Amino acid sequence: MKGLKGKNVLVTGGTSGIGQAIAVRFAQEGANVAINYRSMASEAADTEAQVQTCAQKVQQHGVRDVLVQGDVSKEEDVVRMIEDVIERLGGLDILINNAGIQIPADSHEIDMDRFDRVLNVNLRGAFMCAREAIKHFLAHEKPGVIINISSVHQIIPKPRFLSYSISKGGMQNMTRTLALEYAGRNIRINGIGPGATITPINRAWVDDPVKAEMVLKHIPMGRAGEADEMGAVATFLASDEAAYITGQTLFVDGGLTLYPDFRTAWSSE
Ligand code: NAD
Repeated sequence: MKGLKGKNVLVTGGTSGIGQAIAVRFAQEGANVAINYRSMASEAADTEAQVQTCAQKVQQHGVRDVLVQGDVSKEEDVVRMIEDVIERLGGLDILINNAGIQIPADSHEIDMDRFDRVLNVNLRGAFMCAREAIKHFLAHEKPGVIINISSVHQIIPKPRFLSYSISKGGMQNMTRTLALEYAGRNIRINGIGPGATITPINRAWVDDPVKAEMVLKHIPMGRAGEADEMGAVATFLASDEAAYITGQTLFVDGGLTLYPDFRTAWSSE
């Protein structure tokens, strides 16, 4: 992809699933990659082995890499993390806001701490990372790219996942608003809306053949997405090939946002 070699990229939540695939793909394209992980404490999702495996996959491509700890929902962590990346890689050109969580609950029984937690990571966290990255781009009068990893649930409602749906819906307007605000200053902001993608976040159905069949029958292309397919789109959107694209969300979803129930005509016959 044009214009990625030697660029410095930060991927939040970059040690697993889509984030890891994006980190590795940028390394393949010759970009230096900072991989953010939340914590290596025993109760956290990231184990030391997982973090090191991800770093090794990036190192294989001969680029510079750094591991940066930080909880994206904490402002002090975000500020420190971005400063750390800038110091250790010598600058930042591309931010991938990938970290995300979801917590299911019937909406009338939602516990507000859990509701806030999802919004704080997925939306507020993504914004704080974007804010710090934009400050850096502007201070150095250099072009910058931000890619927000959203979801098909940016536009498709997801009952029992209200805070997740709200966070991704909010992400769409964040992408569009920031894109408009900074378009004249050489900063492009876009989103990717993955459909059902095989990663740890949805192990519950991936590992269960009955549930997997139920999921796949809703997808027009009849299969789930691969994390690598998100990596390919992320590098495209960050590259000079996409130099004239800003404020858009590219859905990478095997047709999930095409109203699959309308595959056969039922409404007008
Ligand atoms: P995943 O669980 O493998 O990855 C999420 C990553 O975010 C993990 O590495 C996790 O440690 C990290 N994270 C969570 N909270 C964090 C915090 N506070 N600070 C820093 N990192 C934190 O799941 P994934 O499927 O790879 O998800 C990546 C992104 O893609 C998410 O934003 C998710 O909403 C989105 N997405 C995934 C799918 C899918 O089907 N897998 C579909 C649509 C959108």
